[in-house]
Amino acid sequence: MRALGLLGGMSWESTAIYYRLLNEEVRTRKGGLHSAPLLLWSPDFAPIADRQREDDWSTLAEQLGRAGQHLKQSGAEALLICSNTMHCLHETIEQAAGIPALHIADGTGEALQRAGCKHPALLATRFTMEGTFYTQRLRDLFGITAMVPDEEARSGIHCIIYEELCRGVIRDESRAYYRDVIKQMKAEGADSVILGCTEITMLIKQDDTDLPVFDTTALHAAAGVSWILG
Ligand code: GLU
Repeated sequence: MRALGLLGGMSWESTAIYYRLLNEEVRTRKGGLHSAPLLLWSPDFAPIADRQREDDWSTLAEQLGRAGQHLKQSGAEALLICSNTMHCLHETIEQAAGIPALHIADGTGEALQRAGCKHPALLATRFTMEGTFYTQRLRDLFGITAMVPDEEARSGIHCIIYEELCRGVIRDESRAYYRDVIKQMKAEGADSVILGCTEITMLIKQDDTDLPVFDTTALHAAAGVSWILG
């Protein structure tokens, strides 16, 4: 098996899910006492979220690039950046680390393609919904046109991620809010839903909508396992 480095802690709530999924899937596929060979970088998330809010992406690029290098020096042969948002720095981190970083949008794009979904509703942080790094990759590599919610809904979705999910807070009212946004986007033509933030899986499940749900945390972890097993 090949060792995988996790750039985690963004937030640790979702990294804990990655850790479990990676190990469970390796056990399922290899059996016995087998588990995933992993290296984890898990920083304090508060200053990272501050830099994001200040649009100080160059400091974050430097910090994550350095972390990627350390993981490589410690034996990681590839990386998972355990956050959709931080994929805005994907190329820079990959170059600094000197090992491949498996892109979170790719497993999702492939799964959407396999299911024949072309217009997914993208629920994510403001950075992911409003930047082009994610939607453009889905369009260019997979021919998928992601739909983003309106300004008010983007703000509500973003706020629930940072004020609740990243702090381990799960509220029925917030689930109802997300469900309403999904319903509205379905009426506007969405044919599926991307849980485009690695914490949303804590709040929204397939049972919450009749549209097919694509969970980026699970899909990214599955891509990681395929890579580990070569
Ligand atoms: N984990 C989140 C994501 O997938 C948001 C937290 C962060 O900014 O990294 O986008």
